[in-house]
Amino acid sequence: MKVFKFGGASLNSVERIQNVAEILKAYNGPLMLVMSAMGKTTNALEKVVEAFYGGKQEDALNLFHAVKENHITTAKYLLVTTYNKTFELLNSFFTEAEWLLHDKPVQSFDYYYDQVVCIGELLSSCIVSAYLNERGINNQWIDVRDIIRTDNNFREANICWEDTKENISRAGIQNNNTIFVTQGFIGSTDQNESTTLGREGSDYTAAIFANLLEANNLTIWKDVEGVMSADPKVFPAACLISELSFTEVIEMAFYGAQVIHPKTIKPLQNKQITLQVKSFLDPSLPGTTISNKASKNLPPVIVLKNKQVLVQLQTMDFSFIGERPMSKLYQLFAELNIKPNLTQTAAINVQFCLDDREDKIQQLAAKASEIFDVQLERNLTLLTVRHYNESSAAEMLDGKKVVLLQKTTTTLQALYH
Ligand code: ASP
Ligand code: MG
Repeated sequence: MKVFKFGGASLNSVERIQNVAEILKAYNGPLMLVMSAMGKTTNALEKVVEAFYGGKQEDALNLFHAVKENHITTAKYLLVTTYNKTFELLNSFFTEAEWLLHDKPVQSFDYYYDQVVCIGELLSSCIVSAYLNERGINNQWIDVRDIIRTDNNFREANICWEDTKENISRAGIQNNNTIFVTQGFIGSTDQNESTTLGREGSDYTAAIFANLLEANNLTIWKDVEGVMSADPKVFPAACLISELSFTEVIEMAFYGAQVIHPKTIKPLQNKQITLQVKSFLDPSLPGTTISNKASKNLPPVIVLKNKQVLVQLQTMDFSFIGERPMSKLYQLFAELNIKPNLTQTAAINVQFCLDDREDKIQQLAAKASEIFDVQLERNLTLLTVRHYNESSAAEMLDGKKVVLLQKTTTTLQALYH
């Protein structure tokens, strides 16, 4: 069994979807195809939920209408014999969302987010599945919400692995030579509420399937040649890395590299499943292979993370920062579901660099101010360089106002304005 994941950029036009079919001509089942929403659909659906929750129902419905039209147009261009049947299915998803949007919001924002945003993946996978069938790539479409069981931590749902495993075997996916087409990023609770796994979570879905299906390979098809040493848009000298270890990639993803969703690596590493990152624009290129093999001779690998906040906490009475206040702080992180990207402790103060989720940081600051003097510094960037050398690091930080700098033998991290 192989698992392929196609991201939003590979599905963002009629031509791109046709290109996916071209790529797939070279493969037979058993194959699990995990689809993202088309292009920027998820962003568009986020706007729908924001309008709806902000009490602007009409705006929400108009914005949703635009998403609908887009998908119908794509389906019309792509499909001939199966258009009517597919339209019916698309329509059932439209109705699912519209039914909700006609109501008043009474539940949490995150709940509505998941019920509406999940439509993106359902629509794209439906259209792609029908198109592949018309092209002779026979496949079976699966509503992944019947398979991926999660808790109800909306927008960042946690996988119930045992139930998901059972659903896979009940659906008979494992011992089947078929090509399956399904959705990334979404799941459902045991109450049949839709959930999402966090933005860019389709990679993670693909890794879950790879793990539970004991796949020998997962390929993520992207619009880049493979994993680069840095974002080429920011660092033109970035180069392709052809082989990487799981350890290296999990660190890169954790510090904010956009290549792969950070949760993707564990399910693969645990079952020794090779991950390939390949270009859908030129499938003949070798791409990047990620496995357990130690990475050798890596260039400096650069990752930038924007929208960071530095939270500085100092004891009020000149007492030491001991294990008790620290454990209180970590309890608070757990309650708020946030994690520091960088930590620096001293005698009477401690500093944390975190993603600036405003609501959560506000709550953190309020709670922490019961035991500490709290200061926040916002609008910071976190630079991480693995396998750094002093001269290139100095160059990257030239002219920056650095507020925190940490170095280990392999990794340099700087937080700056
Ligand atoms: N469509 C979702 C997003 O844009 C999930 C994904 O693409 O991985 O975040
Ligand atoms: Mg994506």
